[in-house]
Amino acid sequence: MIDTHCHIDFEDYDKDRDEVINRAKNKLDVVINSGIGYESNQGVLELCNQYEGFLYPSFGYHPVSSQNCSDEELKQTHKHLIDNINNIVAIGEVGMDYFYVKDKALREKQREIFLTFIEIANDYKVPLLMHVRDCEKKALNIVLDYDDIPYVIFHCFSGSLKTAKRIMEHDNYYMSFSTMLCYSKAHQDLIREISLDNVLTETDSPYLAITKETRNEPANVVNAVKKIAEIQNTDINTVDEITTRNACEVFKI
Ligand SMILES: [Zn+2]
Repeated sequence: MIDTHCHIDFEDYDKDRDEVINRAKNKLDVVINSGIGYESNQGVLELCNQYEGFLYPSFGYHPVSSQNCSDEELKQTHKHLIDNINNIVAIGEVGMDYFYVKDKALREKQREIFLTFIEIANDYKVPLLMHVRDCEKKALNIVLDYDDIPYVIFHCFSGSLKTAKRIMEHDNYYMSFSTMLCYSKAHQDLIREISLDNVLTETDSPYLAITKETRNEPANVVNAVKKIAEIQNTDINTVDEITTRNACEVFKI
């Protein structure tokens, strides 16, 4: 079982990070920690080095923070990413967020920054791990223009079934489902229709806890796997086996 997207580098875990990681180790094979900007990426790398073989890094630039980003900062993030291209399992999270960002000019800036990371994923043939919210179809149309991105992942996919069906036409495109499945009717309806061949699992910890007041953690990905099995009328082992195999293939772990 694999948590393909979380943020255990966040300060939410400063007091008990080791315990959180050990609880994850008891239940999971691998955890992927996504960076959200230059400093965050470096912190993620250092943390992953401490837990080599269990915790793996992806380097990104969160679309919501990209609206305050200077050219200098972006350049620095690109250079750092390229310097570490062999140390990471994916580029992400990067993408576009139309839920938090309504302003047209800022959305355009998000798109431009997103494109710079797509170019790197395409040039260096690294999986692209995307944060896309309320613009899934747009993001899909953008990435479809690039032939050399080995794998595309919609982290915490919340798009329409129509877009999901288009995603499923591509063997190397994946939708990741989180612990949100435990309470979100929209996600439950969606996963019913999705082939496990295109599914990954995640928690997005510390976010998306099963009860909204508590902090989420990677070990809880078990709850997402259980929920998928329940909704798809299959057993947990089957869901575990397929989604773990998918993640191992995508991230080469
Ligand atoms: Zn995230």
